[in-house]
Amino acid sequence: MKSRKKHPRTFSFEFFPPKTPQGVEKLRATRRQLAQLQPKFFSVTYGAGGSTRDRTLETVLEIQAEGYDAAPHLSCIGSTRDGILAILEQYREHGIRHVVALRGDLPSGTADVGEFRYANELVEFIRAQTGDHFHIEVAAYPEYHPQARSARDDLLNFKRKVEAGADSAITQYFFNPDAYFNFLDECAGLGLDIPVVPGIMPITNFSQLARFSDACGAEIPRWMRLKLQSYGDDIASIRAFGLDAITALCDRLLTQGAPGLHFYTLNQAGAVSTIWQRLGL
Ligand code: FAD
Repeated sequence: MKSRKKHPRTFSFEFFPPKTPQGVEKLRATRRQLAQLQPKFFSVTYGAGGSTRDRTLETVLEIQAEGYDAAPHLSCIGSTRDGILAILEQYREHGIRHVVALRGDLPSGTADVGEFRYANELVEFIRAQTGDHFHIEVAAYPEYHPQARSARDDLLNFKRKVEAGADSAITQYFFNPDAYFNFLDECAGLGLDIPVVPGIMPITNFSQLARFSDACGAEIPRWMRLKLQSYGDDIASIRAFGLDAITALCDRLLTQGAPGLHFYTLNQAGAVSTIWQRLGL
């Protein structure tokens, strides 16, 4: 087994673009709080098929105007090459130099897959059109993507994205650190040495987490599921357990060499700030 390459640690926070003026205000407050933790960048999600195109851009520009590095997500399914190029040009004109390149998922009932089938094609397109302008992040799946034909195929598909020019990766969230370290070892075995930063989902609400996890293929370990179920509607106990479990996960990931953490904040600062303090970062 090849040894893993060491990378400097990178910490980042992910937001979704708010829909309402109240949501915009709330995200500003969340950002003010999280900015004190001095992350490397804030990323902003993008609705597949372009449903949040303008709101993603507005949010990214606001973050950038506040003096922080902002990384828009960009998903390609359902899009044309011209459409993606127009978005890249817009980002380039505004001095954005960091993107998270994804395939995305087609909304159900949509028949037109567009001109890109997979994220590796998007990465290749961004590199061909814009050279080295953008730092390109891609998604990685320590527990494998739910549509992958096999674990091996998924790993080889991840390799395609790296070979197409990805600079680093952020993982889908997971609760089993062994899955992550196994994935890093598999990458090292294939000679892939870009940083793969673990994506961290704080636990604040069990039913929402169970729904998300079923959809994206992230496994909630039996002991965690049973504990969380046992709290019923007792939100305070769910949060307390979530803070303990996720702090322990992050601690283990960092101690064993993860190159940073990327938090799925869901536009909330509370849980992330507490985990951060407990980790002594
Ligand atoms: P891909 O890497 O293209 O993989 C998708 C599937 O196709 C996998 O099963 C893979 O094994 C297979 N595959 C890949 N390449 C090939 C190939 N060449 N031939 C055959 N099979 C192939 N979604 C959004 O809509 N907006 C967001 O902002 C967003 N942000 C995300 C951020 C992170 C960090 C992560 C982990 C996910 C995010 N997602 C987002 C979800 C993501 O779009 C979905 O997980 C989607 O189903 C897969 O996207 P991908 O870029 O990983 O796709």
